[in-house]
Amino acid sequence: MKKLIDKLREERTLTSEEFAHLLSHYDDEALAYINQQAREVATAHFGQGVYIRGLIEISNYCRNNCNYCGIRKDNWRADRYRLSKEMIWDCCEHGYKLGFRSFVLQGGEDPKRSDNDRQRDGTFGRSLRKSAGDIPNVPSRCLSVKNRRKLTNAIL
Ligand code: SF4
Repeated sequence: MKKLIDKLREERTLTSEEFAHLLSHYDDEALAYINQQAREVATAHFGQGVYIRGLIEISNYCRNNCNYCGIRKDNWRADRYRLSKEMIWDCCEHGYKLGFRSFVLQGGEDPKRSDNDRQRDGTFGRSLRKSAGDIPNVPSRCLSVKNRRKLTNAIL
């Protein structure tokens, strides 16, 4: 078990089989060890500081249907919306006044967002970085790897 945890720390990933083994066979000792590893890595990167981010849900439309998720496409109870650029900007300004210096722009895989939209999001993200100086923007966690890469490249 320890070997797998060490591998995960070193290589930052495991094979599906190794993850499955870890998740179905861990015990208290393994859990303590993995927590210790996670703490060491976090401290190496962030020290003892506490970083908070303002989370802005820019849209709750999603083409996917993950069972656990409140904004999955088949949830007919969800009240759907998309924030305009101005609304996102207002949220950031408000958050900045409240002391947030980092914002996550989050949304689902919105079927109406094209590559052009993502390019525009990137340009918008860049102007946010420019105006607010120390505000990095983290693109949506629910984008596919391909779309996340496009958006990240557009921002940076
Ligand atoms: S992809 Fe993300 S936003 Fe979409 S249903 Fe799944 S968890 Fe929810």
